[in-house]
Amino acid sequence: MANKTKDGKYQCFYCLKIYAKPEEADKCREEHDLVYIPVSRSDANKILNYLFVPSNPEILEGVPFVKFLRRALRT
Ligand SMILES: [Zn+2]
Repeated sequence: MANKTKDGKYQCFYCLKIYAKPEEADKCREEHDLVYIPVSRSDANKILNYLFVPSNPEILEGVPFVKFLRRALRT
């Protein structure tokens, strides 16, 4: 569902582009072909840390995000 802005317009959830009609914002979101991947808060912190300081890949050991990501991209 599109986000409604303070001035009565609608925003794509993903790219934040503004549209006059909610259907347009929803269509934009659908065209991004989003995948939804479950991640715990602590694992999200590990992934974020790794993205900013990728010197220690062991930080991601045991984080199921990579498995979920691969599974989401397979379909
Ligand atoms: Zn968009």
